[in-house]
Amino acid sequence: MCGVFGVFDHKDAAYLTYLGLHSLQHRGQESAGIAVSDGYDINLKLGQGLVTRAIKSEDLQEMKGSLAIGHVRYSTAGGSNPKNIQPFYAHFYGGSFAIAHNGNLVNADKIRLELEKEGAIFRSTSDTEVFVHLIAKSKEPPPAHIMLHQNDKEFIPLVFNAMRKVKGAYSLVILRENQLIAVRDPFGFRPLVLGKNKSGSYFVASESCALDIVDAEYLRDVKPGEVLVIDDAGLRSYFPLEFPENAKKCIFEFVYFARPDSLIFGDWVYEIRKEMGRTLAREVKIDADVVVPVLDSGLLAAKGYSEESGIPFEIGLVRSHYVGRSFIQPVQSIRDLSVKLKLNPVKQVIDGKRVIIVDDSLVRGTTSKKIVNMLRNAGAKEVHLLISSPPVISPCYYGIDTPTKEELIAANKSIEEIRDYIGADSLHYLSLEGMIGAANKYKQKGFCTACFTGDYPVL
Ligand code: SF4
Repeated sequence: MCGVFGVFDHKDAAYLTYLGLHSLQHRGQESAGIAVSDGYDINLKLGQGLVTRAIKSEDLQEMKGSLAIGHVRYSTAGGSNPKNIQPFYAHFYGGSFAIAHNGNLVNADKIRLELEKEGAIFRSTSDTEVFVHLIAKSKEPPPAHIMLHQNDKEFIPLVFNAMRKVKGAYSLVILRENQLIAVRDPFGFRPLVLGKNKSGSYFVASESCALDIVDAEYLRDVKPGEVLVIDDAGLRSYFPLEFPENAKKCIFEFVYFARPDSLIFGDWVYEIRKEMGRTLAREVKIDADVVVPVLDSGLLAAKGYSEESGIPFEIGLVRSHYVGRSFIQPVQSIRDLSVKLKLNPVKQVIDGKRVIIVDDSLVRGTTSKKIVNMLRNAGAKEVHLLISSPPVISPCYYGIDTPTKEELIAANKSIEEIRDYIGADSLHYLSLEGMIGAANKYKQKGFCTACFTGDYPVL
């Protein structure tokens, strides 16, 4: 769960990266960083917290250069160590580079151990640093079938070699003194888009909403397995690895993670998320008075459900946008109140009604239980919980922060047991076929669905 951004050839590269990271803030709130190149040197600014806190406007004034990359981070356990803030910078025999990564490598520990045995010293606990070492120590020649442009003969084969060694999910941006490089793993787990503005500057970003904010047009996705090099000689595209039959794009990006105003994997998140709600309405018919979304994530699915079922849509839960992730909850009694801090029922909408609430997913079940209780206290006659994705039964190893199997409620309880635990009158999930069908309706193909099926594309 991270976001990456890159700019080539704009005099305000660091400022635009700052704006781009702002748009990608939902992908990571723990830390942010920018690396900028003036053609000779790469400079970094890294900080903890939201982008506005991590990087100050005084810092941006000092960051001169027309090429930049940036990163927002959302780490898993133990990861808030400042040493893990990206981009990472390295200087080696071939020059310098900075790198930022969205995704997760499944063989990082193994490679790291091998490298450490050979004498490598790591400065972070992040899997991304494995790329840094693999690039720096690579010696093998590029694949014979690839004709490299003159500008790419030294550094780009090192990237190819690193790609050959790692397994898992990676959407990368790499900054060299005079080049911006974008890389996507052969399964294409995480999104990465390419854009261009009217004056010819190029941009790469995790989602297209970050292109909108810098007035750039979406050109296309960086393709699964592609290494895209951008410099003064133009754009060049290489595919150094064997391709899997099908890409394995993370379907959870459509369910929950990506912003609804983004175009990812070639389609609009808005449409697909709403279609998931419509499909749910065709699969699950309930006699009810009102459809209420759990904001913000359940909004579009609830809208789709309401349109398809004809049951009126209402904002029956209001969300506060001022509750940060860092809210400290020292004692249980205060922790129990914390859901109320985020969501509060609108009594006029709920009182005396048979309510359908729609959420995007159900992971631990603790929040849903509190919401159901809250709606009953607000006078709901019935509460039906609908989830616009299937039960989450397995953890994600490709960069989304899901809890362990022990903590995933659907891995340990039947649907009836979950319903009983959360106290709803009924509980229904969108089927796996329904979820994939909703995405396929918009010409999508090839998804990872491992957290819903346990069927992992790569381990
Ligand atoms: S396991 Fe789930 S969250 Fe992870 S990449 Fe696959 S679909 Fe996405």
